[in-house]
Amino acid sequence: MSDDRDQLSPDAQRLNETIDGQQMLIRMGYNPDSIFVDGDLIRIFCPIHKDQVRRSLVLNNREKTFRCQYTQCPVHEGGPLIVLYAKCMNLDVADAVERLQSGEQKSGEASLLDRAQALIEELKYEEALGYLLKARKECPENTITRCKIASLYLEMGKQKDGYREYMAAAEDFSVKGELDHTLSIYNMLAMMTPESARLRRQMAYLFARLGRPMDAAEHLKWIIDFHMREKQTDAAVAICGELIEMLPEDPALRVIVMKLYAETGRHDPAVREGVIACEAFLKTGALAEAQDAIEWCIEHYPHAEELMELRYRINMMQADQSAQPREATPPKAGSDSDANEDDFNDFISSLEDSID
Ligand SMILES: [Zn+2]
Repeated sequence: MSDDRDQLSPDAQRLNETIDGQQMLIRMGYNPDSIFVDGDLIRIFCPIHKDQVRRSLVLNNREKTFRCQYTQCPVHEGGPLIVLYAKCMNLDVADAVERLQSGEQKSGEASLLDRAQALIEELKYEEALGYLLKARKECPENTITRCKIASLYLEMGKQKDGYREYMAAAEDFSVKGELDHTLSIYNMLAMMTPESARLRRQMAYLFARLGRPMDAAEHLKWIIDFHMREKQTDAAVAICGELIEMLPEDPALRVIVMKLYAETGRHDPAVREGVIACEAFLKTGALAEAQDAIEWCIEHYPHAEELMELRYRINMMQADQSAQPREATPPKAGSDSDANEDDFNDFISSLEDSID
């Protein structure tokens, strides 16, 4: 990859040797927290193929080079640091050298943004848009400008363009480690288009990255429902796998997965999930939920022996628990309970009576 360096002008080569990778990334808008430094190596989420999952772009601060570990990425082969800066800023290398040498140089951008703002206030949207697009070209690292463009498109009734710009801005923020910004954009887009599976998936990944698996799971559950409605059962089942990986101990989730398997004719996996769900409910002492799950399962798979054994065990535990007055379960008064449940409640009541 250092071969590319020979193609640089002597000026660019000299500048490249003085670049500090970390400083360059901060100038490009990266949040310092998102920059992982390991000796001479710096790892970031790749801004070229917009990596959302791993820090695939590696900068070598000693050799002053970079490369992306993702083989399909356009910068997989890498090159000198100045080339990365130029690519991210949409500049050719000569302009990138000039930009880096001349320091901040954002006054041009600032006045463009000011003019755009004034025009927006006068409701001259088309003209304002022109200035915003110029400002973005001047300073592509400023993702806020991208948001302003998006919001202006929406104001002008150009929903599709606004949505596209907001999605790109969210991606930019995410790559640079500004996850809160990404989240606020997604929240806003979710209000605009609550029915977008693509957006829900992005949100799920984001929540997973933020260490909020429950929130991630909410979105994945929504996607499962969506695929089920669209009769895309294989896609739904695939997402179940992701969900289970994310929250292996969540019994309510296993119930969803169990029902999905049953609905799609996957008998053995359905029974397996049912058993896992019941065991997980029992672990947390949620006997009533365990009982609901087992009854549902037996209604669908009356011949599965392991289910009968499990039901027996759950009923015994229920009886045990009811035998202790302070934890007694009040009998259900709902009219929706089925015959089995009524029988069982009678059984419980009779136990309670006999204790009294
Ligand atoms: Zn890449």
